[in-house]
Amino acid sequence: MNSRRNFIYKITAASAMLPFIKPSNYFMSKTNMDDRILRVAIMGLGSYGTRVADAMQSCKKAKLVGAISGTPSKLLVWQSKYHIPAANCYDYENYDNIKNNPDIDAVYIITPNALHHDAVMRVAKAGKQVICEKPMAVSATEADEMINACKEAKVNLLVGYRMHFEPHTLEVIRLRDTGAFGKITFFQGLTGFDIGDPNQWRLDKKLSGGGSMMDIGIYSVNGSRYMTGLEPVWVTAQETKNDPEKFKEGIDETMQFQIGFPKGIVASCLSTYSMNNLDRFFLDGKDGFAELHPAAGYGPIRAKTNKGEVTASDVTQQTLQMDEMSDIIFRNKVPIIPVDGEEALKDLKIIAAIYEAAKTGKKVELNG
Ligand code: NAD
Repeated sequence: MNSRRNFIYKITAASAMLPFIKPSNYFMSKTNMDDRILRVAIMGLGSYGTRVADAMQSCKKAKLVGAISGTPSKLLVWQSKYHIPAANCYDYENYDNIKNNPDIDAVYIITPNALHHDAVMRVAKAGKQVICEKPMAVSATEADEMINACKEAKVNLLVGYRMHFEPHTLEVIRLRDTGAFGKITFFQGLTGFDIGDPNQWRLDKKLSGGGSMMDIGIYSVNGSRYMTGLEPVWVTAQETKNDPEKFKEGIDETMQFQIGFPKGIVASCLSTYSMNNLDRFFLDGKDGFAELHPAAGYGPIRAKTNKGEVTASDVTQQTLQMDEMSDIIFRNKVPIIPVDGEEALKDLKIIAAIYEAAKTGKKVELNG
C-alpha cells in the first residue's frame, strides 16, 4: 500500500473555501462591518432547530440570541440552556415585534415546509435578515414571492443548504473544475431513509407540500446541479408506492427520476421514505470519477476519486454554515455554491417538473 499515500489528497477546507469578495455591497452600505457577529433567533424549536442551536454554540461569527415558538415551556428551556434573554423570545402571534428589537439581526426559520412562506414574508417585513430551511417553500410561486419580499425589504434570503459549505464536497467540485475527471458524463444521486411514524407532519401534505422529494430527494436534485456544475434541461420520473395507507395522495414514497443536462449529460436519482442506507453521490467523467458516500448526511462526509481518498476537514456542518452565512451577510462573501432564494427556486421548479413527469409519464422540458 506504499502508493496509497500518493492517492490521498492533502487538501484542507481552507484551500477550497477561499473567500470571494463581491465588488459591491448590494444590501449593506455601512462600512466597518468586519467584526460583526450575526445575532440569530431560531423559529421552530424542533429536532433540526435544536441541532442548529447546539452547533451554533461553537460559532465564531454567529450567535444564537433569540427564539420563536408556540410552546412557552420550550422557550423557558431554551432561555436557560442557551442563555437567551426573555426579551428575545417570541411566539407565533407576536414575532412581528422583532422589528423593534435591535439585538436580533436575523431569523432562522426551521418550521414545517408549508409554514416557511408566511414566516419569510413576516420576517422580511420586520426588516430582519432571513435564513430559511429547505425546501424554501412548497411551490415556485411561493418562492418567487419570498424572493421579491426580501428584495423589497433589502434583506438577504439565505437557505439552509449546509452541503454547500462542506469541505469534502467543495474539494470534489474544485477537482472537477481543474478537469481531474475530464468531461463530465453522468451523475447518480441516492437519497432516502425509512421515515417511521406515520403521523408526523412530513406525511401531511398541508404541512410538507409533498413527500420524500420535498424532504430528501431535494438533496439529489440540488446535488445533481452542484456536482455537475450545470443547470438541467429536462426531467423524467417514475413513482413507486408500496404503502398507500401511509403515503397518502400527494405524498410520494419512492421516486426515481432522471435529469438531462446540456450536451447529453444525464443524472439518475432515487428519493425515498422507505429504504435505508441511501446517501450517495457518484459523478462520472471521461477521465475519472468521484464518489461522496455519505454525501448529504450530517457527517462525517467521505469522498474518493479514481485516484483514491479525498481528505478534507471534518466539520460540524451547521456551525460552519452559520459562520459562513455571517460572512455572506456582513462581509459580502460569495459562497462557491449559492445559498440564496434563487438557488432554492431552481430546485423547487425542478421538483415540480419531476412531480409532473411522474404524474403524466412524459418528459418535462425545463426552460431556464
Ligand atoms: P420537527 O418536527 O422536529 O420541528 C418542527 C418545529 O416546528 C417543532 O418545534 C414544531 O413545534 C414547530 N411547529 C410550528 N408550527 C407547527 C405546526 N403547525 N405543525 C407542526 N409543527 C409546528 O421538524 P424538523 O425536522 O426540525 O424540520 C423543520 C424544518 O427543517 C423542515 O423544513 C425540514 O425540511 C428542515 N430540516 C432541514 C434539515 C437540514 O439538514 N438542512 C434537517 C432536518 C430538517
